[in-house]
Amino acid sequence: MKLFVLDNGTLDLDLAWLYLIPHPGTVDNPNPPAEWVTIPTYTVLIEHPDLGWVLYDATCHPEWDRRWPKELQPVFPYRFTEKQLLPAQLEQLGVRFEDIDVVIISHLHLDHCGCLDFFRGTKAGRRGIIVHEDELAHALKVTHVGPRDFAGAYVKGEFELPGVQYDLMVGNHLELAPDLHLYHWPGHTPGLIGMVAHTKHSGTFIFTSDAIYLEKNLTDWHLSGIVYDTVAYFRSMYAIRQLSRKYQAVIGYGHDMEKFQQLKKAPEYYE
Ligand SMILES: [Zn+2]
Repeated sequence: MKLFVLDNGTLDLDLAWLYLIPHPGTVDNPNPPAEWVTIPTYTVLIEHPDLGWVLYDATCHPEWDRRWPKELQPVFPYRFTEKQLLPAQLEQLGVRFEDIDVVIISHLHLDHCGCLDFFRGTKAGRRGIIVHEDELAHALKVTHVGPRDFAGAYVKGEFELPGVQYDLMVGNHLELAPDLHLYHWPGHTPGLIGMVAHTKHSGTFIFTSDAIYLEKNLTDWHLSGIVYDTVAYFRSMYAIRQLSRKYQAVIGYGHDMEKFQQLKKAPEYYE
């Protein structure tokens, strides 16, 4: 297999979303300022001998400023160059959305499913986008019971799309191929899917998505600021740590800028 990491730009946001209470107030300093940080958003494209083109995650929609609720836009604004947008990242490799065979969405937050819009009516959209059953159930529930069509980072219009079917992952593990595995790592959200790819010459890669935002969450054993289930969060982090030790794996964290900068980016690839 060839594994490409696609740089899709950045989000700016308060560090407290990623790392719970990074700067606790004290009696001497009761109101410490928020720390405003820039983090990457990326996708992983695999050219697989048996599966064809496989895409893990779908970053933000290029027209985010038209599609996202006005309330969310200033909270984590999306920044990008034209070249970083998913359509352009695929195009530099000669790949069109119609060419992609399998799409896996780690979870249905707006910065991971935004470009599903481009899969309406395509081969992958008709086949069914792989999403965990617990994720789809939760995302549908929370966007249909309140007064608005979004809840937290779930935005109905970003995943409820005509021409996009879903193929549900059930249970904890799905082997797509002997060298490509999906795992259910809940905590951040109920149905988060991580991907483990065993390459021939570059070793094993574990893409955690937002099961672990930053390496610092893992090394400090520290919660993020967005967690659905705190017990599951730590269990998933433990499982990821065990797998990374077993395979001496490279971990692709959800949004760690420093670790992301260390990865090769498309058009370079791992194989
Ligand atoms: Zn995210």
